[in-house]
Amino acid sequence: MSIATAQEALNLQLKPQSRSLPDLPQRDLPRTLPTTDAQWRALEGAANPQTRPDPFGNATDREIFGLSPPPVYPSGVTPRPLDVVVIGCGLSGMTFSMMSRWRLNNVRLRIFEKNPTFGGTWFENRYPGCRCDVPSVLYSFRFEPFDWTEGYAQWDEIFRYFSYVFHKYRVSDHVEFSSPVVGVTWNEAQGKWTVEVEKTDEKGGKHVTEEKCDVVINAQGLLNRPKLPSIPGLESFQGHLVHSSQWDSRTCIVEGKRVGVIGNGSTGIQIAGDIAKRVARMDHFCKTPTWVAPYASNFSVTASYRDQMLDPTTHAESYRNAWVRGEKTWVWWTRPNWDRDADRYQATLLNKYLAESVSDPQLRAKMTPGHGWGCRRPIMSNNYYSAIQLPTSHYINDPIVRITPRGILVCRADGTEEERELDMIVCATGFAVNWVNRFMSVRGKGGVLLADLWKSHPVAYRTVAVHGFPNYFWVAGPNTPPTHNSVHILFEQQINYIFQCIVFLQTNPSIEALDVKESAQKEFSDVAQEWLNKYTVWNENCGGWYRYETGYIVQWPGSATHMMESLHTPNWDHYELSIRQEGDTPGPATPMSATGWHDRWRSKKNRDPTLSPTMLGAKI
Ligand SMILES: Cc1cc2nc3c(=O)[nH]c(=O)nc-3n(C[C@H](O)[C@H](O)[C@H](O)COP(=O)(O)OP(=O)(O)OC[C@H]3O[C@@H](n4cnc5c(N)ncnc54)[C@H](O)[C@@H]3O)c2cc1C
Repeated sequence: MSIATAQEALNLQLKPQSRSLPDLPQRDLPRTLPTTDAQWRALEGAANPQTRPDPFGNATDREIFGLSPPPVYPSGVTPRPLDVVVIGCGLSGMTFSMMSRWRLNNVRLRIFEKNPTFGGTWFENRYPGCRCDVPSVLYSFRFEPFDWTEGYAQWDEIFRYFSYVFHKYRVSDHVEFSSPVVGVTWNEAQGKWTVEVEKTDEKGGKHVTEEKCDVVINAQGLLNRPKLPSIPGLESFQGHLVHSSQWDSRTCIVEGKRVGVIGNGSTGIQIAGDIAKRVARMDHFCKTPTWVAPYASNFSVTASYRDQMLDPTTHAESYRNAWVRGEKTWVWWTRPNWDRDADRYQATLLNKYLAESVSDPQLRAKMTPGHGWGCRRPIMSNNYYSAIQLPTSHYINDPIVRITPRGILVCRADGTEEERELDMIVCATGFAVNWVNRFMSVRGKGGVLLADLWKSHPVAYRTVAVHGFPNYFWVAGPNTPPTHNSVHILFEQQINYIFQCIVFLQTNPSIEALDVKESAQKEFSDVAQEWLNKYTVWNENCGGWYRYETGYIVQWPGSATHMMESLHTPNWDHYELSIRQEGDTPGPATPMSATGWHDRWRSKKNRDPTLSPTMLGAKI
């Protein structure tokens, strides 16, 4: 078997239906969670749009976070019915469903999810030590307080929180599980998308159904295409080989074993920190040293803190403060400020943390990164440094030559080879982040395959749209990855942007489709790349996934506040509109420029989010 087939073997294991429902550890549970069936039933639909105001609509929050107001249906206009399909029911698909209850009328929404349940990232990743690296309060819906048992929640608690929200906001009304989307094709003549969904019958037989819709929302996520390392011999290993995202506590037993962990991104550090005390020996293979920061002081929370977090006012205040704190750190990622501020940060915190935590100067030197902090995703850990200094732990930065049936062969500094015998190899080697879905093909205008367009790197318009794919919008599309602030707020803004497009289509029945102009996409992409390469830490080649081999950077070119502003209101000038030839009768669509429509739709209040290099740098 070649390396390619080892990756293929992993892909096979990752077939959509292959994962079981999580075996949730029973620990100290948040009190907010219902414990009986009756309580769960009472929770179902508690947040009913008929009886409660739009929970996303808090005006103070809108001001602080720069969220756009809900789109308005002009009075006297009956919105045309629209069929919308969402692909994926992770955080972004769930948020889309919830917000749509309050903000969209006359829309038939269906969500197809390949997994047997919701949660995405937090359903798929169950490895030891898996937890969020932003404070739990910030990794929450801002209107849905939860008495998190830890300051940085573990995966199962996040999954439980999602479960609570999923039921309360009746996301279940919209979703079909175990339903991978395998193909999405734009039908120009009909002005509709054909979505192919694979269904499995009771006997395990598979068949594909075709669903037509007007609008497709891609909420597929970006960190869910597991990647094995390209090391010769991987497939020859006779012990237990596992990718972190395939962890199953019933079969992945580390106790008393010799375990090799490959990779020292967030996942590798979390796993190594967690398992070190339980294994007979841990070898941590780290190609490039990486910065590790300690979690903030509220890592362990007290009962009174949990009470405070359940209070909506205190929760809202903490959330807003956390956002503002996050925005203040943005300068650490920017080049002109980076040298001064990040150096200071490194000197005062990261180097100090390393120096205070790792006593052996030789080990410390091996572990000191040569790249700037923030170039790779910042890694948080309170237990890694102590874990790696256990007598049974080994930090190995000698290059790996190959994997053998018995373990891992490394080349030592003196040129000799050493075989490290192992019972288990954990590949904490992350994900292929290229936004090309491994389960489905997406064909836009003229049958163009998105995967072909994005062979070297993905190019989109402000994270939400791609030229040639009309009425196809993204939540968490290319250039979304946040480094310094709440993904919840960014997703909300992307979703409300898409809602504005949907309402536009509904209230202009003669317009069949919105396709972002190639020129607008290019302008965004050119300016973004120039700016990112000139002014941010990501222009370094530090081996992180934010920067492609081509040099293309997939981060947002600015602060989170800047991203909020850029997605505040669609600029219709940036879109080609397809007009139906005969009134409302669907027929071949004729593209035309949006000029003219734009004036009608842009009021003075709406900000023009036209990008310019000055504006990119101006915020925060
Ligand atoms: C281990 C780990 C830790 C993380 N920690 C943090 C953190 O601390 N803070 C933070 O901000 N972010 C973190 N992230 C990023 C995290 O992915 C996002 O915060 C968020 O969960 C993304 O939500 P999503 O819905 O966009 O994607 P996902 O959670 O990946 O959900 C996408 C869903 O789409 C489904 N899907 C995909 N393709 C198809 C298809 N063809 N048909 C049907 N369904 C499909 C998937 O099954 C999945 O359920 C972490 C990611 C990982 C992997």
